[in-house]
Amino acid sequence: MEREIRHVAMFSGGASSAFVAKWIVDKYGSDNVILLFTDTLWEDADNYRFLEDTSEYIGVPITRLVDGRTPEEVFFEERFLGNARFAKCSEEIKVKQTLIFIEELRLKNYEPILYFGIGPHEKHRAESLSSHYEHFPLEPVECRFPMIDTFSKEVKARTIIENEWKIKLPRMYSFGFRHANCGGRCVRGGHHHYANLFLIWPEVYKAQEEMEERFRNQFQLDVSIMKKEGKPYTLKEHRINTLEKLSNEELVRYANQEDLDDIPCFCSFS
Ligand code: SF4
Repeated sequence: MEREIRHVAMFSGGASSAFVAKWIVDKYGSDNVILLFTDTLWEDADNYRFLEDTSEYIGVPITRLVDGRTPEEVFFEERFLGNARFAKCSEEIKVKQTLIFIEELRLKNYEPILYFGIGPHEKHRAESLSSHYEHFPLEPVECRFPMIDTFSKEVKARTIIENEWKIKLPRMYSFGFRHANCGGRCVRGGHHHYANLFLIWPEVYKAQEEMEERFRNQFQLDVSIMKKEGKPYTLKEHRINTLEKLSNEELVRYANQEDLDDIPCFCSFS
């Protein structure tokens, strides 16, 4: 028997994925759409508020998948500190949960099509997601990227959501975070990302620094979230060697710079 299609919006908590979710509902009807959110339990409170507000506006409840562990718990359990090159947290908490969900849908005789709110400037991420979902589920899953392949002109999702939907955007946008998942604690973040975290939410930086120190002490390993010149470079070193030496103005300038070694992440906020 042929499976019935279910259009699954990968609902990340970002403006583009919310915009794409609404577009799918308008096109295929709310009964055929699933808003899928994989919760790391580390998200900023305002991201959860945005998810609720947009789900209500779109008219489809959120399907929330939760592994139950935070990224920190995954690191300690797996004895592997997530970092820019390899984020076990993303694999365990987000990707694995999504793969299980796909197989469960198929057992109920539904065929999922996954939709991502990735824009034309992130084509490399679209390619890596398509390739992942071609190889890792039991059977390949179709991935769609309407912002790249369907809309003929650039969509101003943030403006539309604020001005037409009248929904306030997640506050992390206005704080200049590039990795806005996991409440600013993303282990894929680089030196400038963490400078921004230090500037905006020093207490969160402190929590992340303490987690890194606990991990290093408990497992007696010279590992870190970030690297410098190919070697481990801890958040404590970053704070002492750079961040605390900058004036407020210099820190703002430094935090606004882009981390050039950014690696495409499954969890990116879009
Ligand atoms: S956003 Fe970053 S820290 Fe959070 S699960 Fe994804 S890779 Fe891990």
